This record gives sequence, structure tokens and C-alpha cells, in this order.
Amino acid sequence: MTTRHTVTAALPYSNGRLHVGHIAGCYLPADIYARYLRSIGEEVAFICGSDDYGVPVSLTAREEGREPAEVAAYYRAEQKNDFDGLGISLDIFSGTSATDIHTEVSQHFFLALLQNGYLEKRTSVQLYDPEAGRFLPDRYVEGTCPHCETGGARGDQCEACGKMLEPSKLISPESVITGARPEKRETVHWFFLLPKLQDRLREWIRSHPEWRPMVRNFSLGLLEQGLPERAITRDLDWGIPVPLEDDPDAEGKVLYVWFDAPIGYVSFTAQWCAEQEGDPDGYERWWKDPDCRIVHFIGEDNVVFHAITWPAMLMAEGTFELPDFIPANCFLNIQFPGEEETKISKSRGTAVWINQYLEEYDPDPLRYYLTMIAPERQRTAFVFDDLIRRNNEELVAALGNFVHRNMTFAHRYFDGRVPRRGDLTEEDRRQLAMIAELPDRVAALLADFSFRDALGQVMEAARESNRYFDCREPWALRKEARASCGTVINICLNTIKALGVVMEPFLPFAAGKVARMLPVAGDGLNWAQAADPLPEDLELGEPEILFEKLEELSEE
Ligand SMILES: [Zn+2]
Repeated sequence: MTTRHTVTAALPYSNGRLHVGHIAGCYLPADIYARYLRSIGEEVAFICGSDDYGVPVSLTAREEGREPAEVAAYYRAEQKNDFDGLGISLDIFSGTSATDIHTEVSQHFFLALLQNGYLEKRTSVQLYDPEAGRFLPDRYVEGTCPHCETGGARGDQCEACGKMLEPSKLISPESVITGARPEKRETVHWFFLLPKLQDRLREWIRSHPEWRPMVRNFSLGLLEQGLPERAITRDLDWGIPVPLEDDPDAEGKVLYVWFDAPIGYVSFTAQWCAEQEGDPDGYERWWKDPDCRIVHFIGEDNVVFHAITWPAMLMAEGTFELPDFIPANCFLNIQFPGEEETKISKSRGTAVWINQYLEEYDPDPLRYYLTMIAPERQRTAFVFDDLIRRNNEELVAALGNFVHRNMTFAHRYFDGRVPRRGDLTEEDRRQLAMIAELPDRVAALLADFSFRDALGQVMEAARESNRYFDCREPWALRKEARASCGTVINICLNTIKALGVVMEPFLPFAAGKVARMLPVAGDGLNWAQAADPLPEDLELGEPEILFEKLEELSEE
């Protein structure tokens, strides 16, 4: 039976391009998962868009002397190019400031929470920059974290310990705009009464023992400490207006970005449904149906918001389904030759940018490497020379080589057609059994979000297939035992078909070449038919090189 799946990837701030850390964190795993689901014939909505109303966007706009909307639109388009170049197969990549739909859905959430008794107006003390003459929410303030005492903590969240912060709690705060020491002033805001949902949240998280410990234990730990009431509005001019026209307190207030950003998953789905089917209400099939599985791919810095705040908003709104799984990856570090492993950072210039990578290299080697070092359970490090080495020693030498040697053999000695399969030896049977089991073996790991191990199985199958080829020596059989030689090549071409199917979620560009080389009629290459035999005498496409050998940089 077909199931529907809503697959989302965390919204990138539209104030910069994407680097390898972003891709390894959530976009690549989400894409692998979405591609796999499509291949097994499931219905998928793969949803993402940019987070435009964040303070980082207005800070970038300030630095660049442009309007925030302009900055958001510019980087959104650039990020879309990065995703397309890497084959991240999003069904929609929109942005929170891109359409009115997002404004409407966000305002609906605010009003529903207010009506359902989960929002309350409070007078609170906020930091105010007397030189700039404005309030300083969130990242407009930096200081020392009151929990772990790390310096340079941003007003909304400490990067070092991951805790949510209030700017007014920072030790030695400074205005990001003027460097001034902020004053405390009173202002009115709407607060989300999170403590009211604490028990339901705990019960819900406990009902998911299958989640990664990082997500589950971290969230349960926060619940143990007790959730604070959190302001969901801000004194800013860049954001979604608080939709209370009759209330003078609402003037000049916008929704807190972390309130509106996750709503983007819903509003982008509505936009997609409107564009596809002319029906914005079509989103309900993806968000309000208990039979639809909702999966949020995120990075480790987003756990609080996806395992606590967002589900709490959904509970408080009352008509939506809750997420089923929240696969979070740890951060990816980077290591340059002769240097210590370090954090990927735009400001410190330690990032490898997707657009720069794609100017010189194909997307598949990066997808391969980032999956093989995926920070699924702990932080890992990106080392450019390792990418080159693994491309050459693994992709080229194992997978690419197996495909190429068989395709050229079939073209040279079997007229470019699939030879007949005759009597089978023990080795032939073992190889056929291996490819018959392979799709299930890889699928079980994919369904378990163990992408690194799943790709490892694909590569192990390629290595095993090379051993089979070497052991059967078709080049020797060709003269004295042509029928046996045909059987071996038949089995190897069928192996290529199975490999083509199971590699597709990870290496879609190479899989596209396999599909052209093995032009199977009908649905072509899909999961269920991965191990079905190719028609004998099928005319093969021209051999194509799956992966190019790359030069190692450090040898220059
Ligand atoms: Zn901290």
C-alpha cells in the first residue's frame, strides 16, 4: 500500500550561500530519503524554503546597505542553484517572505493559539540600544552565556551548549549594531505558554523510543528542567505583523522568527499544492492525515525548535498531525592540510562552498563523500583530500570500474546486447542471490535513517561484484566457452541494473547514466524491479564513464 510522506529539510537563512556543512547536516540526507521513497513508489512532498525573517537576514541587509527583502530574494535564488546543482530533488523551495500564503498561515497560527488559550500578553523587560534608539531582540545582542559561560553567545541561543537564551540574561551584553551597552526597558509581548504543554510533550517524546538519542535525550532533558514561557513577538520592522489591528499594543510588533519559520513547512506545502493542483487546501493531505508520515530533517542546532517548540505549536493549534521522526545530524567540522580540525565558519573563511565546488567537480563525488562521513551520531570532519581519494579508490575503482568493464565487454563481444543466460555455476548463483537480496538490505537501512551504512552496503556489493567478475574470468571464457561467458556478462549487466537502482538515492547523476545504458521499457529502474532480469538481447546504450578520476590537491 502506498503511504504519503511529508519530508522537510530545515529552512536555511537567506543571508548567504550554502556550504558542505549545510548539505551534510540535513539537505543531503533528506534528499536521499525522498528519492528512496519515490523509488519504492510512495507519495512524497519534499518541502523546503528560506527563512527570511531571521535577524541574520536583517543584519546582512544592514551590512550590504540593502533591503532585507532584496537580500532574501537574492540568496534564495542562489541557494536554489546550489540545491539544483547537487541534485537535491525538492518539490518546492520557496521562502517565508516570498508569498502572501506564508503570512496568512502564520497569522492563522497566532490567532488559533490566542483563541485556544496558549498565548498571553505580558509586559516584559527587553534590551534597548539607546544609541540606535531601538529594541535589541535575539541576535542583535551578544554576550557571555549564563549557562556555560562561553563568550560571544548570541541572544537567542548559545552555540556552545545549545541552550535557548533570553538576551536579558546574557552576561556583559553588547549591541551588535553599535557596540553600546544595552539598557533595560519595558515593552509588551505575547508569550507562548509552553509549560501548559509540558506533560503532553513529554508523553509524546517518550512514545518515540526509535528517535536518535541526541534528539530524544536532549529534549527530555529540557522538559525535565521545565519549559519557560517564551515571547513569540518582537519589536522589529522586518517580520510578519501581529494580526491584531484593534489592539494598540500590537503596533510595531512582528512574529518572532522561530514562531513563523517552521510554519513555512506548511505554507510552502500549500503553495506547492496551489501551483500543482490549483488547490491551496491540498496541504491538508500532507499535514492533517494520520496516515501521512511527517519527517523533519534538521541539524543539531535545531533540535529544540523541532522537538519542542514546533510540536507544541501544532498541539496548541489543534488540527495538525505531529512529526513522526526528526532525524538530526551533528555538525560537520572541517580540516585543512597540516591544521587542526575546526568548525565550518563563514566569518573565519573555513567553509567549502557548493557553488565553488561545482565549478570544478561533479556533484556525485561530494554526495558520496558527505554520506560516507555523515555526522549521523557524532561530529565528523570534511577533508578535501579524502574526498578525492575516496572518489578514486572507491567510486572509480569499485563501482565505476565494474560498470565500465562490463559495458565495454558487452559492446565489444556481444554486439552491444544482453547475452543469453545459460547454465549456472555455484558462483553465478551466489552473485544472483546477492543482487536479489541487495535492495532489501539497503532499504532496511534507509528506512532506519542509517544512510552511511546503506551506502556502505551498495559499495560492498560493487566490490563483491568485481570479485565475481575476476573469479569467473569472462575474458578467458570468451574463446573456449562462449555460452558461459555470455552467462557471466548477463549476470553482471543485471548486477549493474540492481546497483543502478540502489545507488540512485545517493548518486543520482551516475544512476541516470546507468538508466541510459540499460534502457529498460516501462517504469525503468525502480526499487521493486531492481533484481528482475533484463530482457535477453536488449540493446544497450553507449558505455558512459560514471565517475572521473580526480587529481589530489596536495600533490601539486
Ligand atoms: Zn552556553
